[in-house]
Amino acid sequence: MSKFRTIAVFAYPAEAAVIKSKLESENISVFLRDEFTIATDPFATNAIGGVKMDVYKEDYIKAIGLIEKSNPEITQRITHLVICPKCKKRAVREQGDVMTATTFAERLKAVLLSIFPFSSDKHYKCMNCSHKFDLNE
Ligand SMILES: [Zn+2]
Repeated sequence: MSKFRTIAVFAYPAEAAVIKSKLESENISVFLRDEFTIATDPFATNAIGGVKMDVYKEDYIKAIGLIEKSNPEITQRITHLVICPKCKKRAVREQGDVMTATTFAERLKAVLLSIFPFSSDKHYKCMNCSHKFDLNE
């Protein structure tokens, strides 16, 4: 099981950089994947599915809260660029108690109430083919 969790997916590295510096100012380690591929070839963002931003699992809730506070519009878009690995459609929704909680407080409560807050459950479901998956797979 990966010790990282994908917190957001960005279409362009510049967007990711803004959030990265914000999170790092709060002592959260941020790891971007596919950043350089997209910087070299902007059209690759469609093929790759954007720049993935990963944080350590223990930082995930704090990081989500920070993004929600500073850039709420980004949390709205987090799943919009996620592409179903099976049918390749962008029809993916987050699921599960933690992920469907709409506010940080609700999300925190959901985490506190669950025995294994960072279980290996699938967090995304494709609305097109119903395939369930996680970005870290
Ligand atoms: Zn699908």
